[in-house]
Amino acid sequence: MTGPTAPVTQDVLTMPRREADGPRNLIGLTRDGLRDALLSVGVPERQAKMRTGQVWQWLYHWGVRDFDAMTNLSKAFRATLRDNFVIALPEVVTRQVGADGTRKYLVRIAGGHEVEVVYIPETDRGTLCVSSQVGCTLTCSFCHTGTQKLVRNLSAAEIVGQVMLARDDLGEWPEPGTGTGEGGPRLLSNIVLMGMGEPLYNFENVRDAMNVVMDGEGIALGRRRITLSTSGVVPEIARTAREIGCLLAVSFHATTDDVRDVLVPINRRWNIETLLDALRTYPKVSNSERITFEYVMLDGVNDSDADAHRLVSLLDGIPAKVNLIPFNEWPGAPYRRSSNNRIRAFATILMQAGYASPIRTPRGEDIMAACGQLKSATERARKSRARIAAEVEASR
Ligand code: SAH
Ligand code: SF4
Repeated sequence: MTGPTAPVTQDVLTMPRREADGPRNLIGLTRDGLRDALLSVGVPERQAKMRTGQVWQWLYHWGVRDFDAMTNLSKAFRATLRDNFVIALPEVVTRQVGADGTRKYLVRIAGGHEVEVVYIPETDRGTLCVSSQVGCTLTCSFCHTGTQKLVRNLSAAEIVGQVMLARDDLGEWPEPGTGTGEGGPRLLSNIVLMGMGEPLYNFENVRDAMNVVMDGEGIALGRRRITLSTSGVVPEIARTAREIGCLLAVSFHATTDDVRDVLVPINRRWNIETLLDALRTYPKVSNSERITFEYVMLDGVNDSDADAHRLVSLLDGIPAKVNLIPFNEWPGAPYRRSSNNRIRAFATILMQAGYASPIRTPRGEDIMAACGQLKSATERARKSRARIAAEVEASR
């Protein structure tokens, strides 16, 4: 089911939100969910708030994985927890460290599927690029993930778990009882939902996971330290503002519907004008909360001076910054990266119009960790490259 007339999405919304049966995983439950879980194993109503707070703190503040280590809980209660619940994270299959310090984890989740998580250290921050789905139902023609056929939504546990396993690897949990870890700069200070998948096609799980991560008594990352990137799932944009409140990035990538229809096929459902309307009314929009427009630079496709000028007019009235992403080529990709001169000329036009337009330096290229290259090795290149190239050619 590919090609211009194929549906641009498949129904992932009907996928189960939780893993199969077995002892219930406490990771990924919202505070209310955790409270309900504790009530269900006999915690009295009057103690529920306190017990929830205690368990929450062990899980997300100290990063403890063993009920027996939860020393402020009675032995009997710890035994009840052990009998009924697990504290389970996805399993790290491989860990690669690039020459620039970028770390890439290949992570196995229930069912044997694999997703990738990338940690990018920078001077003023450390950003974790988190995946929200195995593969992606959308088929953006320049994106490696989009060529992967198999798709399933990650559970909230699997999303929170990515943050927790990165903190494990970075050694970032405070020693129980020794302080809150708020003292110094954090190694993992920011999250971008820019790994595999379209986060807004897995809205509830992404929302719950981010609310766990933002909770002040746990991992406590502020909502301005989280950026959700969407290809433009318009109906979920307002909900993102209301129910998550994080920063928003949008994979814009083209300045005419004709070109965007090919690059980001969801544009056939919600076109540029509809998308911009949704962004304009994104309730959080303000000078301090600019929307990031991601724009991948593809040689001869979307990188002309005329494109830059059109982009400037489209952005009119929206507090925005533009991230220019030099295309990360992957084997068989039907596009080439624009030249550095072209990217700079494009950036200059945007800057002269008053838009910050940093050119994103690809990170972790030696370990295939850069944007849009994420894809599990086992599922690589299921859709034939020739076919993608032919589709692109046909729609030019
Ligand atoms: N599905 C979401 C988030 C994941 S993709 C979305 O599309 O926004 C994160 C960013 O990487 C998006 O802007 C995406 O368009 C971009 N990207 C995908 N493939 C790329 C590639 N090969 N080179 C550069 N950027 C790419
Ligand atoms: Fe999916 Fe985003 Fe890749 Fe498009 S760019 S195929 S929405 S992951």
